[in-house]
Amino acid sequence: MNIILFGPPGAGKGTQAENITKSFNLYKVSSGDLLRIEVSKKTDLGNEIKSTIEKGALVSDKIINNLIIKILADKKFYNRLIFDGYPRNLDQAKSLNLFVKKYDQKISCVISLNVSKELIIKRILGRQTCTKCGLIFNEYFKPANSENHLCGTKFLVKRSDDNEKTIFKRYKTYLDKTLPILEHYKKLNLLHEIEGKSEIDKIFVEISRIIASLEA
Ligand SMILES: [Zn+2]
Repeated sequence: MNIILFGPPGAGKGTQAENITKSFNLYKVSSGDLLRIEVSKKTDLGNEIKSTIEKGALVSDKIINNLIIKILADKKFYNRLIFDGYPRNLDQAKSLNLFVKKYDQKISCVISLNVSKELIIKRILGRQTCTKCGLIFNEYFKPANSENHLCGTKFLVKRSDDNEKTIFKRYKTYLDKTLPILEHYKKLNLLHEIEGKSEIDKIFVEISRIIASLEA
């Protein structure tokens, strides 16, 4: 089966993708990773990508699509992909439909983690890491106290780029770009929307249930 996973920044998509990959023996495909790998290989294409990124420009759909085709053509990954951060726009989604067909595969389902802006802001703004022991807390959802954390509060720090304006902008960009793609998959009867405000474990149980129903 091939699965596509969507979720705004801060929705825990990365964690879920990792869990799904392990539990269902899938291979994760993110366009960011594919680009990085190609750049590290120092191929002509890799060098082209590198200079595009260094210019601050977006890598073209054509390049991304070519990298995706390579993965789909690889027998090792046949029908066992989870796409994370791809497709990024409607054109890429439509191209992907054609590519999977060409390589005798299909998109089995599309899972979207839906999380409100308010919740994401709290999740990101509230995140605290202990510089001494490395534990991660959240002042809204999982506050550090004398029972769960022994180092005391003075080692707890927040990430500096986590300000509200940046988060809001990233969230809005995500919605603007993603809603048309979700709409597209909805019409194809592939879309499963999951309420992303539950605990990570509960969300994974729900995702597992959806994937298990596909295997049956
Ligand atoms: Zn600590």
